[in-house]
Amino acid sequence: MREILTFPDPRLKEKSKPVAEVTDSIRELMDEMLEIMYEAPGIGLAAPQVNIHKRIVVIDITEEKNSPMFFINPEIIASSGEEEMEEGCLSVPEYTAIVHRPSEVTVKALDKDGKEFQLECDGLLAVCIQHEIDHLNGKLFIDYLSPLKRQMVRKKMDKLKKAGR
Ligand code: ZN
Repeated sequence: MREILTFPDPRLKEKSKPVAEVTDSIRELMDEMLEIMYEAPGIGLAAPQVNIHKRIVVIDITEEKNSPMFFINPEIIASSGEEEMEEGCLSVPEYTAIVHRPSEVTVKALDKDGKEFQLECDGLLAVCIQHEIDHLNGKLFIDYLSPLKRQMVRKKMDKLKKAGR
């Protein structure tokens, strides 16, 4: 299994490259990402979190874990409203914080077959998609926090790592 990179790993800050063509190996990678995400467990995973710097995101916000969504080269093409939600991240274990984001977004992406689609979403899905697209741009949810808070997170992660978790 691939390892999930955790903050402050500098590889999480790399900007991911667009997928040129949706091939079988890309589809296999997405299935693998989905498995890692379910195992973690989490509701979203971006490829750079497993050290693959391609613009790929998998999401499943259902409790049953039976509705996976795949986004290749996702882009926010419209956003509105405002919302604050408590966010967490597999790359920042055991930490959550309130983040402000637009409450409704329209996403354009390619699906598993390489076909373009658009999706309007709100609530948890809208937050999740924005969070995962941030990963593709080398941004973490804690980057929205004050430097002081981020420093506290870094200390907490150091402690976790020392404890071997
Ligand atoms: Zn995340």
